[in-house]
Amino acid sequence: MTRRPYIVGNWKMHGTRAMLSEARAIDRAAQRHMKVEVALAPPFTLIHPIHREAEQISVGAQDCHHAEGGAHTGDISAAMVADAGAKFVILGHSERREAHGESDSLVRAKAGAALAAGLRIIMCCGESAKTRDSGRAVAFVKKQLKGSLPSAEEVNGDIAERITVAYEPIWAIGTGTAATVEDIAQMHAEIRGLLVELYGEEQGGAVRILYGGSVKPDNAAEIFAVPDVGGALVGGASLTADSFMGIALAA
Ligand code: PEP
Repeated sequence: MTRRPYIVGNWKMHGTRAMLSEARAIDRAAQRHMKVEVALAPPFTLIHPIHREAEQISVGAQDCHHAEGGAHTGDISAAMVADAGAKFVILGHSERREAHGESDSLVRAKAGAALAAGLRIIMCCGESAKTRDSGRAVAFVKKQLKGSLPSAEEVNGDIAERITVAYEPIWAIGTGTAATVEDIAQMHAEIRGLLVELYGEEQGGAVRILYGGSVKPDNAAEIFAVPDVGGALVGGASLTADSFMGIALAA
């Protein structure tokens, strides 16, 4: 089954209730463009307010803890974000891997907790500029994904429904310079191969692989035309309905 293009906005640490008007505008536009699946991952504090009003878009979290609960001051569990209305969680974003020292095994534990709480996951991967310059980008990303993705048994359900992968080269995030279509095509083909190896031809072949890193309305169409690009994970350009839906319309 071919899934709809998936366009996900990652608001990072941006957004107070004043931003709810943008979320409403995104939701209204998404109702007019049903051939694209549109989703937003706002800060935790806006999950419930957006979920309560949204008619078309789904809302997700940008992280969750790997434990079910307990003495973890300042953390939030997968069940808590699900209770607030989240349908998915972004895991293993490079900003968390770097700033919070998240290892592949920790990210994998979070994936298990998220799936157990009924959430879908968007698993991020991506190499640094140094790794790309050294010619080891493909090997690095495959190792990162192998260490972070749950096994088919852990998913225990429709793998292509519950798992999405986002390839986000670190050097392209927030820099204004996206990866070239050649680099995206090569990496997405490698990731597809790995997904088939892990989950089999049918399910591994159907998991959507998003590209992320300086996607904008003016480069979205050429990126979406690349084989095996199933959508985009969008940071900066998801903060306004105009630019975010400009990207969605290109899908
Ligand atoms: C991101 O951090 O997920 C991202 C893709 O950011 P940007 O679109 O701003 O490069």
